[in-house]
Amino acid sequence: MCRHIGYLGPAVPVADLLTRGNHSVMTQAWAPRQMRGGGTVNADGFGVGWWAAHRFSRYRNPMPIWTDPAVTEVLPQISATAVLGAVRSATAGMPVERSACAPFTDGHWAFSHNGVVPDWPGLLRWTAAPTESATDSAAVWALLAAELQRQDPVAAIRAVIRRIIAAAPGARLNLLLGDGTRFWATTWYHSLWSLVDAGTVILASEPYDDDPRWQEIADRRLVTAVPGQVTIDALQEE
Ligand code: GLN
Repeated sequence: MCRHIGYLGPAVPVADLLTRGNHSVMTQAWAPRQMRGGGTVNADGFGVGWWAAHRFSRYRNPMPIWTDPAVTEVLPQISATAVLGAVRSATAGMPVERSACAPFTDGHWAFSHNGVVPDWPGLLRWTAAPTESATDSAAVWALLAAELQRQDPVAAIRAVIRRIIAAAPGARLNLLLGDGTRFWATTWYHSLWSLVDAGTVILASEPYDDDPRWQEIADRRLVTAVPGQVTIDALQEE
């Protein structure tokens, strides 16, 4: 399944979030350590997005991340204080195309999904919004983007998870949502880790290095991250 990463802190080259560490996101694309649920490599494209002056911009490519020279030749020239990156392992039957690569976006919002929603076309009955690609992740984003217009991010995420799990109990829903100042993330089946330092926060599917400060986040949690701090709440009422 996919791997994603979110960064908030001092300005860094955007490429850094993809290449830093002895187990970088780029390495995780071909040799991930914590894949659950059947995927082996994340070779179906990648995307990275960054916020500058509250505007979100992104770069995506449906080819494996290690084949794209932009990662070493262009993305190091762009710096940002907030970055969201993802490498993709397409779920069987879903298209491999640029528009299926996270991050998905709407205004200043950016989003990535690590997981799968069985029978995902059923989700479309809840939204009139077109999806960017014929994938479960694009459909989840259409639902969440609509909720974000009605309520705050925590309530919107809870509402979308509740609705999807009720309709598709086997769904796996590790979500990562950002607005450039904050990230909200969920664990529902897949791995997620946090690394907090004064003025910095990173959420990632897998640690990209051996820093002992990486903390694994338990399953079925809702994480709110701001620079220097993560807050973790239960996602499912028992
Ligand atoms: N199901 C999504 C897709 O195909 C996400 C896959 C994943 O987490 N590997 O794009």
